[in-house]
Amino acid sequence: MRRAQQQVCARCARTDVRFATTWPEGRICRRCYQRATRIHGTCPSCNTPRLLPGLIAGEPVCTDCAGIPKDFRCTRCCREDEPDRVGLCAHCCLTDDLTVLLDDGTGKINQALQPLFAALTSQKVARSARVWLITNPAAKNLMRDIALGEALIAHETSIAHPHPTTVAFLRELFIEHGLLEPVHLEIERFETWLQKKLLDTTPEQSRLIKQYARWVHINRMQHLAQTGQLRKGTLLAARQSTSVALDFLRFLDEQNVEPAKCSQADIDHWLSTGPTTRSLARGFVRWASQHGHIRLVDFPYRLARTAPIISQSQPIELLRRTLDPDAKLTLSDRTAALLLLLYGQPLTRIAAMKLSQIALEVDSLTIRITDDVLAVPEPFASIVRQHLADLPNQNTSAHREQRWLFPGVKPGDHLNQTTIMNRLRNAGIDLRAAKNASMRALVLEIPAAIVADSFGYSYQVTDKHRRHSGVTFSDYISKRTN
Ligand SMILES: [Zn+2]
Ligand SMILES: [Zn+2]
Ligand SMILES: [Zn+2]
Repeated sequence: MRRAQQQVCARCARTDVRFATTWPEGRICRRCYQRATRIHGTCPSCNTPRLLPGLIAGEPVCTDCAGIPKDFRCTRCCREDEPDRVGLCAHCCLTDDLTVLLDDGTGKINQALQPLFAALTSQKVARSARVWLITNPAAKNLMRDIALGEALIAHETSIAHPHPTTVAFLRELFIEHGLLEPVHLEIERFETWLQKKLLDTTPEQSRLIKQYARWVHINRMQHLAQTGQLRKGTLLAARQSTSVALDFLRFLDEQNVEPAKCSQADIDHWLSTGPTTRSLARGFVRWASQHGHIRLVDFPYRLARTAPIISQSQPIELLRRTLDPDAKLTLSDRTAALLLLLYGQPLTRIAAMKLSQIALEVDSLTIRITDDVLAVPEPFASIVRQHLADLPNQNTSAHREQRWLFPGVKPGDHLNQTTIMNRLRNAGIDLRAAKNASMRALVLEIPAAIVADSFGYSYQVTDKHRRHSGVTFSDYISKRTN
């Protein structure tokens, strides 16, 4: 056994280490040596700004004060620093390496990469840049390909790379130094999500969904992002719409129907045999038939043969009207309209609702209809709260017995359903259509963000309220759809 292995590092007192050097204080292990040669500052002993590898009384000091017989100055740039290759500092080594690596083949650094070269060889990041050149051959090879013009400086280059995560930081460098336009990461995440989603599809499904996502969703999101209007709800809606579109194509496949041969009967079959969220395939079907990928078919919002069919935008429009402060509706009208539109309850039942059916908490509002306890999400809950606050004082003699949600003119009576119906009709809310197209599907089955987006409300608020009431919501849905 060699004697050196039994020696102790003067700094860390370990014995099972390899030693780098011997300084006046004793043997120094490699790790302590590396740490010592990275300390820069003003030497407390001679008051000079320098490299401080020495140690006196626990304080880092310069080589002269510590009596270290080594010159750490770079033989080229005279910077006093941890030596990298013999006699050269990390900065000079990096400059040498990058000069070779970024050569465009003519002995000069690739013009487009000049700003990156300048940034990387700045003293601040030289060491970390050296590290990845050594430890990340994928990034190094990609840089060489780019310098030689064999790979493009483009977002696609990183995304399509066999090791995208390994070279991801190169793209960040390119963006940081202005070689690439900044990306909208949310949209890119959507694209990554889409790619994964398409792994398990037929080539035909993949082709159609890709085109649909690109031309309908991604283009729109990019436009919104450029104008600072991209909301979380839009991204979620894009995902859901694309997912349902793919489900629809798979459904056709299961029926042995090629998309091009999809008929009205297939659309009706699709809508009538699954959850109401299937109606979200509408965007895809419309796009596909407009562009000749499938035959021209009608895609109703809900399948109802005997009653007026309401388009998807109409219930939203009706709900929007009940929220519109300028609409000529009393709070009582608005509340009744919401209950009708959101929960599809018959007007006779709404008119006769009692106050005891409403549970008002600080951060939640629930209503009980027959045996179901239903949460009322924001912004609709606010309307109901205002209506409750606006009700006649229950302690006055005239309304001592007041127990109705919609009290009538005569004490003790609730509002007549015909009165409510006439008032809503005058405000443009067609009850027959409204009842068919209860907003339940939109508000309860579609992520809160999308609902919020449709009404221009803050996503966080809606989501918070939804989380508070999540259990009752899903209970309700399972009861209703079973
Ligand atoms: Zn040590
Ligand atoms: Zn000193
Ligand atoms: Zn140097």
